[in-house]
Amino acid sequence: MHPALYQTLHPVDPEIADLIVAEERRQHDKIRLIASENYASAAVLAATGSVLTNQYSEGYPGKRYYEGQQVIDQIEALCAARARALFGADHANVQPYSGSPANLAVYLAFVKPGETVMGMALPAGGHLTHGWNVSATGTWFRAVQYGVRRDNHRIDFDEVRDLARRERPRLLFAGGTAIPRTIDFAAFAEIAREVGAIFVADIAHIAGLVAAGAHPSPVPVADVVTTTTHKTLRGPRGGMILCRSAHQKAIDRAVFPGLQGGPHNHTTAGIAVALREAATAEFGRYAHQIVANARALAAALVERGWSLVTGGTDNHLLLADLTPKRISGKVAARALDAAGIELNYNTIPFDPRKPFDPSGIRLGTPSVTSRGMAEAEMRQVAAWMDAVVSAPDDAALHARIAGEIRELCAKFPAPGILV
Ligand SMILES: *Cc1c(COP(=O)(O)O)cnc(C)c1O
Repeated sequence: MHPALYQTLHPVDPEIADLIVAEERRQHDKIRLIASENYASAAVLAATGSVLTNQYSEGYPGKRYYEGQQVIDQIEALCAARARALFGADHANVQPYSGSPANLAVYLAFVKPGETVMGMALPAGGHLTHGWNVSATGTWFRAVQYGVRRDNHRIDFDEVRDLARRERPRLLFAGGTAIPRTIDFAAFAEIAREVGAIFVADIAHIAGLVAAGAHPSPVPVADVVTTTTHKTLRGPRGGMILCRSAHQKAIDRAVFPGLQGGPHNHTTAGIAVALREAATAEFGRYAHQIVANARALAAALVERGWSLVTGGTDNHLLLADLTPKRISGKVAARALDAAGIELNYNTIPFDPRKPFDPSGIRLGTPSVTSRGMAEAEMRQVAAWMDAVVSAPDDAALHARIAGEIRELCAKFPAPGILV
């Protein structure tokens, strides 16, 4: 923790101060491969931890329900302008508290309870909020779900088109949490147009790649684009909705007053900082390196006999099927964590095992790339992973690797962390 921050916090609450320091140490000393996580910069953290958290500002810049908005209006307007410029969007709403509320706002803007919506099934790589049955979006709406092909685990556009023609959804979602390949947004847009659906591209995972041109942008073809701000985009935890001018009113009304009260102004400022950072050449290099690192990690794992869903990756994430390694996703994830490699167990398409102990693990390269690690380090990570997964009960091995990883991490400072 920054010494000045520690001096402020520790005298008031030593328990929380020490726990934050312990978490910083953990984030510093490990290889973090959770595909949805990152390291926000010190500048983003500073904006997020500011007096802006003191302020209520229901409404939008120039149209507030509280006085004292002289400064906040400028911050939100600047944040929205940066979002529009970075993504080339007509309109940006930067108030959603996170990715899930951003998606809920889209439902509220365009559909009534009981109407039909369509998204990718969670076990195929979709997100809960795209109509999965345990989510409010799967119970309040009539959700139909598409999957991936059994033979190559890619989206089957014939299936998507047939289902859309038959079910006539009001909303069609594309995007997800475990899709290792480029998403063909234009193909989704064409199907949505044919059946009269609003096309929503959820780029929560890949927003940083899209901003830098390392993944095709859905903005030219989608009616609405939703995203989180804290994954590859590397901002604070938050959400945004980009849309065409025609949908601006419906989206803004849905976010406030439809779904939320006062926006989190400290988060808005942090998002603004992240968007400024994302417009730099350095961020562009980071985004392309994320993909290069994911490819290098994939190649090194495949060389060691690993089985990857779709055989590899086009973006920041890999989904490994551990069946050939004779180990479950959960056992592997636990052993890897003990060895200093943090990731999550994950279902694979058509997983014969239960979601709480599935066949796969999900890996992502945003965090390690933010620390400046490159292909050589990815090859080392693959070697460590293979050793751990081949000996999941060897505590001495795990401790030795965790030590080697601490040594490697010491050479790659993590943004936002002073240890
Ligand atoms: C992470 C994610 C979300 C939800 O974001 P939260 O901030 O966790 O609410 C929504 N959609 C997709 C595709 C995601 O990956």
